[in-house]
Amino acid sequence: MIVKPMIRNNICINCHPEGCMAYARGWIAQAKGLMPESGRAPGGAELPKLALVVGCSSGYGLASRIAAAFGCRAATVGVSFEKTPEKKAGTLGYYNNLAFETEAEKSGLVALTVNADAFSDEAKAKTAEAIREAARRAGIPAKVDLFVYSLASPVRVDPKTGVMHKSAIKPIGGAFSGRTLAMDGSFGHAEAQPASEDEIAATIKVMGGEDWELWHEALDREGLLAPDARALAYTYIGPEHSWPIYKNGTIGRAKEDLERACRAINAKSAASGNSARAWVSVQKALVTRASAVIPVIPLYVSCLFKAMKEKGLHEGCMEQIARLFRERLYAEGSADPASVPVDEAGRIRLDDWEMREDVQALTREKMEAACEGNVFEVTDVEGFRRDFMQAHGFEVEGVDYENAD
Ligand code: NAD
Repeated sequence: MIVKPMIRNNICINCHPEGCMAYARGWIAQAKGLMPESGRAPGGAELPKLALVVGCSSGYGLASRIAAAFGCRAATVGVSFEKTPEKKAGTLGYYNNLAFETEAEKSGLVALTVNADAFSDEAKAKTAEAIREAARRAGIPAKVDLFVYSLASPVRVDPKTGVMHKSAIKPIGGAFSGRTLAMDGSFGHAEAQPASEDEIAATIKVMGGEDWELWHEALDREGLLAPDARALAYTYIGPEHSWPIYKNGTIGRAKEDLERACRAINAKSAASGNSARAWVSVQKALVTRASAVIPVIPLYVSCLFKAMKEKGLHEGCMEQIARLFRERLYAEGSADPASVPVDEAGRIRLDDWEMREDVQALTREKMEAACEGNVFEVTDVEGFRRDFMQAHGFEVEGVDYENAD
């Protein structure tokens, strides 16, 4: 069957199965070139042996699982919530997971994936079983030494109350309006009214740190966390002009709560006398399913990519996570978790190149200059579009779209 992309408002509602698998395999090949495949980073912390990645099937979570498995040779347990192909094709994460598992098996790596709603108690219980099983197969203790929490979801059912909370991407205090760029290079205008208190609270419920803490509690209760486990959750800050809709908006409030959760997790671990440590890591803006729907992001990212490519600083998901592992989490001198390089707020920074003054100045210049007549020269909207298509399995090199199913 020939599959064509179905896109509405920067959301692609289908995917190409073979294309998704080829794209994921491309990341695996990339990771092998970017990461050390040794038992120990030189002078750094011991590399993970058993990694848990919640939100493992795309974007930063998939890259993290690939880095742990193919870069560090860890057994991995992944959690994501996918539609499996029955009457209709599955979700893109289903095919990414399938490609990952197939390649892991070929490389002699243990990989188990739990398909469940990560916010539920049931997912946490199933994952505990999967961790024990993965450890048994790998012949190692059932102790997770790397825990990556990389969920991006619009909704969450609170397991205690059964209430479904829906996040809203809105400004706080005043309305937001700004230019937007569609993937075909046409400009538009987006307006967002300020969020209500209920919308702010709901976004914190969905994208804040509560569920990350619940995962830690569940793993701890089951005795599945290594005493020196390293845990990560991802955030974004971005340039000041995006703050009304991002950092100072509902999503920013949720990310503040993620940092609160990080401090709470670290306080608990310190009180219990072990050296486990959690970090929030600030990543670069990239094209993923989650980011393409945030107003301003497509225009900003198209200009940012152009600026970073011109300066030879561009990175994709896999390069970002490989650098996170190599130069931060398991860097030389990081055997003591207190030596992992962080900013004044204790966050790991992988947005350092994005936020460089010269990169931001060039990006701003491009954002101001871009118009319909020059958009393909001044911005990298084409790169944005291609990344977006490839994340859904379309336009991936080597895939025969006329015949493949
Ligand atoms: P993504 O949409 O590519 O990945 C999200 C993952 O969560 C997928 O594996 C998805 O299947 C999974 N998921 C969603 N709901 C789930 C549920 N209920 N149960 C189980 N799995 C579920 O998103 P991403 O952009 O990689 O975002 C991951 C994290 O990185 C987020 O915290 C995001 O804020 C952060 N981040 C993203 C960017 C960016 O530009 N994309 C930048 C910095 C930080």
